[in-house]
Amino acid sequence: MKPFSILPLNKDMLDNLKSLNYETMTDIQENSIPPILKGFDLFAQAKTGSGKTAAFGIGLLHTLDVKKYRIQALVLCPTRELAEQVTAELRRIARFQHNIKILKITGGMPLNRQEHSLKHKAHIVVGTPGRIAKVLSRGTLVLSDLKSIVLDEADRMLDMGFIDQINEIFEYAPLKRQTLCFSATFSNDIKKLGRSFLNHPVEVTVESQHSSEIIIQHFYAVNAQMKIKALLILLSEHKPESALIFCNTKDACRRVSSDLKKSELHCLELHGDLEQKERAEVLVRFSNGSSKILVATDVAARGLDIESLEMIVNYDLPFETETYIHRIGRTGRAGKEGLALSFVKPNEEFRLNEINEFTNNSFHSKDINLAAKIEITNMEPSFITLSINGGRKNKISPGDVLGALTVKGGISGKDVGRIDRQDNLTFVAVKRDVSERAFSLLENGKIKGRKFKAMIND
Ligand code: AMP
Repeated sequence: MKPFSILPLNKDMLDNLKSLNYETMTDIQENSIPPILKGFDLFAQAKTGSGKTAAFGIGLLHTLDVKKYRIQALVLCPTRELAEQVTAELRRIARFQHNIKILKITGGMPLNRQEHSLKHKAHIVVGTPGRIAKVLSRGTLVLSDLKSIVLDEADRMLDMGFIDQINEIFEYAPLKRQTLCFSATFSNDIKKLGRSFLNHPVEVTVESQHSSEIIIQHFYAVNAQMKIKALLILLSEHKPESALIFCNTKDACRRVSSDLKKSELHCLELHGDLEQKERAEVLVRFSNGSSKILVATDVAARGLDIESLEMIVNYDLPFETETYIHRIGRTGRAGKEGLALSFVKPNEEFRLNEINEFTNNSFHSKDINLAAKIEITNMEPSFITLSINGGRKNKISPGDVLGALTVKGGISGKDVGRIDRQDNLTFVAVKRDVSERAFSLLENGKIKGRKFKAMIND
């Protein structure tokens, strides 16, 4: 593993990477940053968790002319959550220099506010294809000074049917540009996309990201009625710190989550029926450790900002093998060993065969001991999320919130976990046993001289 310092990057950038604890490059970074810095187009196979955002982020920021307030880079992401995560990571990497403005332009948010921000000078836009195509067609996003375009999770964008919008977006982009395409899988459609938009790209595939090397996969033969019991057995056997349980439908998500709750397990559910605000809250609460279990559909789970999920469960086996690869890629990140458990119903053996064929494996589904004892102890999450009705727009910083909680007579700093800010809301994770005290400190204290309303989100 090589250090970032071997790259021709300026010292402030290198110091900032160090302050983020990015000491050595991940495989994808080592292989893709040098050609990106040389200006080549790139076609890279990389999944979430591989460090791909920093790979293209460092490239984009390296060539950015900060004094020129024009959009110089556009990053397209399949989902709002991923766009949020990419924006946050780019902002962290951009900290080395003042005044770099990165805007997130996605659906589900008021268009006029986004267009207002676009008027007020920015350097980089991160967005979802539908909304970006819209602001381009309205003339409120102008790409005449664009230097680079990134297609992030390109396979997922195609799966979600964004091809028309992507074609439209490229019509607005200058021909002289750098195009970087990242995809977890290289299907024929992705290759076709690459041929249309990339110019003699450098191709990067990273051996060690091959999932089976670091992800332990088990398949259990169960019929539909046994699934919940089997899930409880596996959860009580592994007692994961973080588990993502995939269902194929919203209904199944609701059912599984309600059954787990009946068994006294703390869990959250995430699916397309939730409003944007609720989805954001669920993502924050799962990411900050306020729940160990999340039951989700595929689309909803994209873009979860979690470094390493201990375990994923395919409660329903997905219809597509590529979806299976995506799902299990959520565990075993950053070199840690992951665990992927899948339920196979009797009529689904053919899907397991397809997975074996695709991944060059020979897994068999095995029986699960349904007489095993279910012991749901020690599975209570250690954190709980509190929120206050003020955020970035109220100029509240994470330090302000930490200060309000740890004032004299307050709680200890080590009982405070992740702090996530949104425009008008801030979430803070605190240890469960001090939550009452923390709530009253937020509710009764002042932040930046102002009182805010606090809530317990449990
Ligand atoms: P990504 O694949 O872009 O979603 O990144 C996965 C996670 O790895 C993110 O939380 C990054 O902050 C982190 N990360 C990226 N590059 C490095 C690095 N070189 N060293 C340590 N962590 C990293």
